Amino acid sequence: MRSKYRHTKIIATLGPSTESEERLVQLIEAGVDVIRLNMAHGTRDWVKTVVQRIRSVSRSVGRHVAVMMDVKGPEIRTGPVQIPLELGVGDELELYTDTPMSESRAVSVNYPGLPADVTVGATVLLDSGLMRFEVVRKDQSRVWCKALTPGTLGSRRHINLPGVEVNLPSLTEKDEHDIRAGVDVGVDFFALSFARRGEDIVVLQTLLDHLNSRARIIAKIEDQSGVRHLEDIVKAADAIMVARGDLGIEIDYHTLPLVQTRMVELCLKLGKPVIIATHLLESMISSPMPTRAEISDISTAVRERADAVMLSGETTTGLYPLECVEVMKNIIKTIEPTEQRGINETVELKTPKAKMLRAAARLGQHLGDSGIVVFTRSGFLAYTLAALRAVGVPIFAFTDDDALFRQLLLPWGVEPFLMEFNDDPEVTVRDALAFLKRRKWCDEGDWVIVITNALAHGEIIDTMQLRKVD
Ligand code: PEP
Repeated sequence: MRSKYRHTKIIATLGPSTESEERLVQLIEAGVDVIRLNMAHGTRDWVKTVVQRIRSVSRSVGRHVAVMMDVKGPEIRTGPVQIPLELGVGDELELYTDTPMSESRAVSVNYPGLPADVTVGATVLLDSGLMRFEVVRKDQSRVWCKALTPGTLGSRRHINLPGVEVNLPSLTEKDEHDIRAGVDVGVDFFALSFARRGEDIVVLQTLLDHLNSRARIIAKIEDQSGVRHLEDIVKAADAIMVARGDLGIEIDYHTLPLVQTRMVELCLKLGKPVIIATHLLESMISSPMPTRAEISDISTAVRERADAVMLSGETTTGLYPLECVEVMKNIIKTIEPTEQRGINETVELKTPKAKMLRAAARLGQHLGDSGIVVFTRSGFLAYTLAALRAVGVPIFAFTDDDALFRQLLLPWGVEPFLMEFNDDPEVTVRDALAFLKRRKWCDEGDWVIVITNALAHGEIIDTMQLRKVD
């Protein structure tokens, strides 16, 4: 009965390869759980069109997906160059924020704080890490760098300043307009790029509260500051994304696996979902088969018990978006059942009710071929059960709240259902079990664990019940 079941969720970024109605049908039917809209490329009109399309396709195929808007965030870039600048090792390049001093080998930068933020000897990376420079001198509005690697610098290239605490706002004006557009169309998650401190999450949360949005916040960790303030950020955010594209540039690349493991472990401890992103199937942008290293990379994410794995270029412009989803599904389904560690013992469970969930997760594993049914309006029970990572025990989360329903699509192992609750908890339980049987999630005679309220002599109490499906 549980052959269709998978704990690890799949996120796909939408783009020209996947945004048509026909492709969306295929993507959603293939098993994507969350669709990401990357605002580094998307416009607000595009968001409106595609979110409506996603919702209507979901309804027509009878399978729902959550929508994540990935907010671009502040970005440091070089300005235009008339002809690409050829730079050899040792050549000097002037980065100016006001007016250039040299006539050649100078390029503007869109961040006036650059000279104040960098020190002589610091590393500057241009073109998403492809070109490496060292700062040799600076004045109030300019920085001179020596090329450590050869390369050609085109217009408007991305700048990374590894280890530098840049003094940029967490949201730009464009971000705020994008977020408003996302709220208007009912986006379920907002991913905040370059989350550097816990306060960055508070800024976005304040804006969402002001807009009366209950969307959840995913903090993208993509630089050293984010890594340094990880614990504060995890506590403040609803979920974390290990954004390995920029992170792999901003930190020493050989430490990336250690940082990834640390992030997953911290999220498991603090009970927050964690997403592994970028380059999981990069070669499949142009090839129908993954490399052996990519297969191992996805297996590692599954073994680390991340909540979700994410596709970016593979599903935006790649030639094989559906094959990528298939490859991920196959790896997940092969690796997940081999997990031997038992439930996550590190998660901090504070309330008696949360502690009861640990007992439910253990019981589910002892019973085998079982599942846990919860009824939730805040998402707390389902998110906490997910953090317990009971392999082989699906979490059937029933809610009567449309917005929460889609937010339950992200955490590990949660299978959400939208259903009206009855005033009588017993009727609600019976409705849920009948629903699961009808949808073939359970068979007659199966044992499931139900976490629910019950009336005891007129008083509402928390219960954990063992129920047989009839
Ligand atoms: C990343 O850097 O890994 C990432 C997901 O962010 P973006 O795609 O916005 O660069």
